[in-house]
Amino acid sequence: MTVSGTASTLGDYKRLEWTAYFLNIAKAVALRSTCPRLQVGAVITLENKIVTTGYNGAPSGEPHCTEVGCIIVDGHCKRTFHAEENALAHLGLHGYPLKMYVTHEPCVICREMAKMYLIHDIIWENPYGDHDDEN
Ligand SMILES: [Zn+2]
Ligand SMILES: [Zn+2]
Repeated sequence: MTVSGTASTLGDYKRLEWTAYFLNIAKAVALRSTCPRLQVGAVITLENKIVTTGYNGAPSGEPHCTEVGCIIVDGHCKRTFHAEENALAHLGLHGYPLKMYVTHEPCVICREMAKMYLIHDIIWENPYGDHDDEN
């Protein structure tokens, strides 16, 4: 069987470029977040293949913000780990250079942690102004 297509038969076909592709996936990952204040998703890739993902939420086995409410300290929810922290926590040894795609601009702590885990590049969609403000 032969499958082929030309520009005319493909109509409005558009191939998503990598950055938009991974940011869209990060947005889907964010939908798993259990903090109603802000849903953040992160995707870590190696050579355009997904290595791990994460979203902000309470640690496994602990009650979620959606069940028992947020713990607000200085305007941030302290019940949850950040999406980037969760993605990095599940990152094994995969090689280099790793890239991280995040729905929202990472805070200073997540940026530092990303360096520690050899993340080479961080790409995000929504600016957060003050870097400490994330969730
Ligand atoms: Zn919360
Ligand atoms: Zn963070």
